[in-house]
Amino acid sequence: MTVAPYIGRFAPSPTGPLHAGSLVAALASWLDARAHGGRWLVRIEDVDTPRCVPGADQTILTQLIACGLVPDAPPLWQSARGAHYQAALDRLAAAGLAYPCGCSRKDIAQALAAAGQGRERHGELVYPGSCRGGLRGKAARAWRFRVPDESCVDWTDRRLGPQRQDVAQEVGDFVLRRADGLWAYQLAVVVDDAAEGITHVVRGEDLADNTARQILLQGALGLPTPAYLHTPLVLGADDEKLSKQNGAVALNTGHALRCLREAGAALGLPATSIDAATDIPAWLSAATRAWAATISA
Ligand code: GLU
Repeated sequence: MTVAPYIGRFAPSPTGPLHAGSLVAALASWLDARAHGGRWLVRIEDVDTPRCVPGADQTILTQLIACGLVPDAPPLWQSARGAHYQAALDRLAAAGLAYPCGCSRKDIAQALAAAGQGRERHGELVYPGSCRGGLRGKAARAWRFRVPDESCVDWTDRRLGPQRQDVAQEVGDFVLRRADGLWAYQLAVVVDDAAEGITHVVRGEDLADNTARQILLQGALGLPTPAYLHTPLVLGADDEKLSKQNGAVALNTGHALRCLREAGAALGLPATSIDAATDIPAWLSAATRAWAATISA
């Protein structure tokens, strides 16, 4: 029997140091790669430059290594990959699947109000397609993906089970390149997951909602769709996903084993079977066995 190669990744945005929540995603992606006998890569997702904190990339890499999570190849920085994103956008545009948009947020809100719709989701307006047929004299600001009318995407998350999203209805034509010239996460992540040969994406549950968009883009670009697993979120005091805004503190890698134990508990790993480990390598190998026993391929 030949076993398909496994390549996984952890793809942090360098908006601050790793904290208890981001370690859960990092650890889960590492454990899943190890449990499959696969490779584990790290990609620094620094396309949203206004949100990036100088030096946070190196801090994250140092924190991962202190926790024994060592990438199998040198990390990739998205800020160095603009030419690849441009090539993908050019292909989509040539196929009529991407178009320039001249709408400001106010234009979009007005168009929605005029149509009697106030469709909004996670603070994002559902784009009504105003520039689908051309810019009508406006200057191009952003580039959008032309979501097919029939765009109900069914996919299965390895932890959450069957998922469905009607992207046209729930999201609309989404941004590939922003009005400020920055590349959008959706395009960059799809191009890079394919370029790195990622077969399995393991990441936080807050990102599950992006998956249908990414599957549509993969289809439009002729790229394979990886398997997806979204991990439980660690919540802050306000019951929202733990983040800098609600009190997440940088991992104290002076106590890396304790940090790993807490992350393992958040993943539901049975503490009793791995408790005995008193150093990081021993804990990680016990945790890999525990992970392998609980997951599906
Ligand atoms: N860079 C994203 C984040 O830190 C993760 C992207 C992904 O794993 O697909 O939230």
